[in-house]
Amino acid sequence: MLQKIYDSLLTLTYPQACQICQNSVENSSDGVACRACWKKTRIFFGEETLCHKCGAFLQAKPSNFQTFCHHCDEHFYDAACAVGSYEHALSASVLHLKRETFVAKRLKKLFVSRFQNSAFQDTTKVVPVPLSKKRFLERGFNQAAILAKILSEQTGVALDEQSLARRVHTPMHRVGMDNKARATSVKNAFEVKRAKFIEGETILLVDDVFTSGATVSSCAKVLKENGARRVYILTLARAV
Ligand SMILES: [Zn+2]
Ligand SMILES: [Zn+2]
Repeated sequence: MLQKIYDSLLTLTYPQACQICQNSVENSSDGVACRACWKKTRIFFGEETLCHKCGAFLQAKPSNFQTFCHHCDEHFYDAACAVGSYEHALSASVLHLKRETFVAKRLKKLFVSRFQNSAFQDTTKVVPVPLSKKRFLERGFNQAAILAKILSEQTGVALDEQSLARRVHTPMHRVGMDNKARATSVKNAFEVKRAKFIEGETILLVDDVFTSGATVSSCAKVLKENGARRVYILTLARAV
């Protein structure tokens, strides 16, 4: 009830425009996108066929077999999944999270339930993909750490923001960079600072968006070199 009043007051006093179509966002829990734009966004509810390892979308129909895209064969993590495709409401939400620390209710719910419905229930630690010091100072926060914190708070799985660090500042991945260029730019970019906190752990690595998988694979490599038993990946969005 209070939420309803709050939402209608919000629409009256501060009609926020949908960042995609400019219609008004009637429900504050939808965040930066309107209901119609959320409807257009592909959310993975388990009906579709995804790559069994990296979570790439393969087809809208379910499959009776474990299916692999094979682009991810060389990646060092064990499995990855995302809330949905990087499009419409999800891409707008990811971009928003790079500017503001506020995470809308709908996004939070989708993120936490994606984890709860995943095969990652043996996770013992949640670790955000770190930013370089330079980018952290520019932005003032790490969007992956915000997501990791939400997940840890809602599920009770321990959060570890200290053990994995980004050693070098790598230029932002640009659209048009091929997978090889992305992989080279993040190779050796990460280090484990406290190996004894990683050893024997099953780690859920959290990031905002999974593009080529080069970044998370590079993180998974150092985590495993330092004794991690398994490394899973959870992101808000998966590049189409
Ligand atoms: Zn819209
Ligand atoms: Zn794959």
